[in-house]
Amino acid sequence: MRKITIIGGGQSGLQLGLGLLKNGYQVRVVQNRTGEEIAAGKVLSSQCMFHDSVQNERDLGIDYWSDTCPPVEGIQFCVPDPEGSGNKVIDWAGRLDKPAYSVDQRVKMPKWLDEFEALGGQLVIAEAGIADLETYARQDDLVLVASGKGEVGRLFERDAEKSAYDKPMRALALTYVTGMVPRAEHSAVCFNLIPGVGEYFVFPALTTTGPCEIMVFEGVPGGPMDCWGDVKTPEAHLAKSKEILDTFLPWEAERCRNIELTDDNGILAGRFPPTIRRPVATLPSGRHVLGIGDAVCLNDPITGQGSNNASKAAAVYLKRILDHGDQPFDAAWMQGTFDAFWDYAQWVVQWTNMLLLPPPPFILEIMGTACAEPRLAHRMANGFNDPRDFFPWFADPQAAADYLQELKAA
Ligand SMILES: Cc1cc2nc3c(=O)[nH]c(=O)nc-3n(C[C@H](O)[C@H](O)[C@H](O)COP(=O)(O)OP(=O)(O)OC[C@H]3O[C@@H](n4cnc5c(N)ncnc54)[C@H](O)[C@@H]3O)c2cc1C
Repeated sequence: MRKITIIGGGQSGLQLGLGLLKNGYQVRVVQNRTGEEIAAGKVLSSQCMFHDSVQNERDLGIDYWSDTCPPVEGIQFCVPDPEGSGNKVIDWAGRLDKPAYSVDQRVKMPKWLDEFEALGGQLVIAEAGIADLETYARQDDLVLVASGKGEVGRLFERDAEKSAYDKPMRALALTYVTGMVPRAEHSAVCFNLIPGVGEYFVFPALTTTGPCEIMVFEGVPGGPMDCWGDVKTPEAHLAKSKEILDTFLPWEAERCRNIELTDDNGILAGRFPPTIRRPVATLPSGRHVLGIGDAVCLNDPITGQGSNNASKAAAVYLKRILDHGDQPFDAAWMQGTFDAFWDYAQWVVQWTNMLLLPPPPFILEIMGTACAEPRLAHRMANGFNDPRDFFPWFADPQAAADYLQELKAA
């Protein structure tokens, strides 16, 4: 029986580990926190996952939450008047063909860790370092590193060609709340772009205490939404969240008059540079290990794609491993496995990186046109499920002009 070790029990590591177990592989997951510690710890993400990613979990029989998690049924996009009138200058919404879901990783990962052990997986609770990787690489057929933003991922060399930025592009914050007034019509990721200041988006989710809303703040560094450094308590974090909405987004502030934190750990603030790394690393012994998920493809959360990418990578890697049968997992196979994922992910990365820059006029025109053109709003909403559909028309002024012309003519 082939033996595989995965460092990191998050979205990519556990989804892949569970998939391998269900296909008869012997799997060890090395994870630095227990399920209990994750459940009792701070929130990690806003983890909104669109249909194709959730389907990957369903295909493995490990989606335990679609019945209880409030669905996200669409995408709304707003831009407030830069003159400060309090009105919206852009406002459209599109329905998702199939709902998205956000299950707090404090809920999901403990359950998956339990399931992993129940299926016979070997769970090692430890912080893995290079010496451990050497041991596992000597013992096993394949070692994967799924350590997210963990230090050990620095083993993989930064790919300067594929990494558009070398510094954080947003100051990030999360606030998990209850008591928010739901969006009228249908639920949605309500995405607000405040030019020069940053973005705020909010959507329903399932957390440790039940249904909630997750508020995500993406502040342009040095701007007024880059404001979390002095916030020291959960109460102050909630107050700051409300203050931002009162200042920039009155319609969102209106929904938040009676919000409360889901729990004192329902907050997060931080920043990181979006980074793509070379997927194959060579250990001092000369053995190779393969990266997956954020460890090698780390995006800014502005487009909500990290968990989606992690799920899609896990699905691609699982198929590649199964298809490889008994052949050796050498460096060429490892590179080919990442490349198969990158065929898809390059478009996600390009789209995400574009949104971190001030929108050029042709993007503003696309966004403005969507207010009066429901087919465009619908297409953009569903692009979150598969961002390849944004190309070429969202990346190239001429392709955008042609597409908008086509829409008007139709
Ligand atoms: C503010 C914010 C909002 C986000 N919102 C969204 C969103 O709406 N939608 C979306 O799709 N994505 C979102 N993401 C991104 C998403 O959370 C990640 O991309 C996703 O969790 C990555 O999965 P992963 O398996 O690569 O890593 P993780 O889920 O981070 O798992 C890595 C695991 O490895 C463990 N680990 C690390 N180092 C070691 C070690 N040395 N030894 C053992 N264990 C180790 C960690 O503790 C962790 O459990 C967001 C992220 C942030 C920061």
